[in-house]
Amino acid sequence: METVIVLFTRDLRVHDHPALAEACEQARQVVPLFVIDPAIRPRHRADFLHEALHDLRSALLQRGGDLVVRRGDPVAEAIKLAGEVSASGIWASGDVSAFARRRERRLAEACAAHRLDFRLFPGVTVMPPTGLLPAGGTHYRVFTPYWRVWSEARKRPVLDPPAKVRLPAGVDPGPLPSVPREPYGLLRGGETAGRRRLAEWLERGLADYGDGRDRVADRTSLLSAYLRFGCVSPSEVVARAARLPGAEAYVRQLCWRDFYYQVAYAFPELPRRDYRPRDVDWKDDEPSAEAWREGMTGVPIVDAGMRQLRAEGWMHNRLRLIVGSYLTKRLKIHWRVGLDHFDDLLLDADIPNNSGNWQWVAGTGNDTRPNRVLNPIRQARKLDPDGVYVRRYVPELADLPAPAVHEPWKHAPSVRGYPAPIFGDVPLIT
Ligand code: FAD
Repeated sequence: METVIVLFTRDLRVHDHPALAEACEQARQVVPLFVIDPAIRPRHRADFLHEALHDLRSALLQRGGDLVVRRGDPVAEAIKLAGEVSASGIWASGDVSAFARRRERRLAEACAAHRLDFRLFPGVTVMPPTGLLPAGGTHYRVFTPYWRVWSEARKRPVLDPPAKVRLPAGVDPGPLPSVPREPYGLLRGGETAGRRRLAEWLERGLADYGDGRDRVADRTSLLSAYLRFGCVSPSEVVARAARLPGAEAYVRQLCWRDFYYQVAYAFPELPRRDYRPRDVDWKDDEPSAEAWREGMTGVPIVDAGMRQLRAEGWMHNRLRLIVGSYLTKRLKIHWRVGLDHFDDLLLDADIPNNSGNWQWVAGTGNDTRPNRVLNPIRQARKLDPDGVYVRRYVPELADLPAPAVHEPWKHAPSVRGYPAPIFGDVPLIT
């Protein structure tokens, strides 16, 4: 093949990138392309995305290539560029959301009309979304059987980055959006930052993950945003972790990621419609929803989580469960309110994981115990026994020791500036 375009979307890396690796091997020239699509609002993830694009451009430049950047509809721009560079094919990584699959279908049709070779490659998940199917079903509905087959399934080998990317002469690479001096969130975007974090995590964090992962004041691997944008490859994370002691609990979490991706592939309405419809009388209670978003519910562990989300663009998984259960099960506010707010602020927000987890929490998803309600006070005492976490994010309570910091209304009824708690209708037995 003479020239192939590799269309990057949410696979912003050069390591273990099947489409890029294959193009560099098979084609004489390769045009790595990213199209900034005005139809996608990256919300608070914009800085992370732009950093990742700068980093990808550097990695490609180091290999003799470049990242070609265009603005507009990815299908129209890719086809236009194919004409300009006389490409014979457009290759990409296959994705799962309804939006991404619509784009893939349109691209396939446009390629057929222009006699271009269109191919989709793996790389967004460890196992492709239709790679493991139960007998007679379109996907696994419950996690444990999926985990059983997933952990035993043969995984594709992890690929090296290409040594050389041969870009055709004369292509205008196009400008990249700049990144502000102080980008939003806790994490810096890009493959370089993601690989550094992965190496540190495998060396220093992983061994303690099974025992320590529920302590909310600590950080877990913090790889989710890098996985979200494909700055690190999930297959590489699993392959490297699996060789180390204590990896099973961690690899299991990455299997949850694949699990929700195969659910979202089979049930594309996951972000909008109940996966398992339940007759819930959702409340239209905007003042409480706003108190939740702002971290002003008066329930310290919930407020700490919501304020961490706003400040850092990240929240510990346990906290996501606590604030999610509080919103949907106590305040009886629809899970979509929570999903939209997370989508706005999280660096790692993606459709399958965000909607799959919100539906799990709300009892409309893949949870086998849909009626469970987490007690935020008990959770706080257990997961933040010294109150370190709450005091870090709720400065109004900085002078209260534990356990009083988790129930300030009992011990210090008038903490200045901090509201009285909203508990909703479910009795709080502490
Ligand atoms: P670690 O604990 O170090 O786990 C490693 C990786 O495993 C994560 O990076 C992630 O890719 C995967 N993982 C861990 N837990 C889960 C899980 N429950 N479901 C799916 N994958 C998981 N995760 C997202 O990546 N994007 C989201 O939009 C998202 N929304 C969530 C919403 C709610 C209401 C809840 C309860 C959880 C959500 N999660 C989401 C899952 C989980 O909270 C995050 O993946 C995790 O906290 C990210 O931090 P980490 O990388 O340090 O995780």
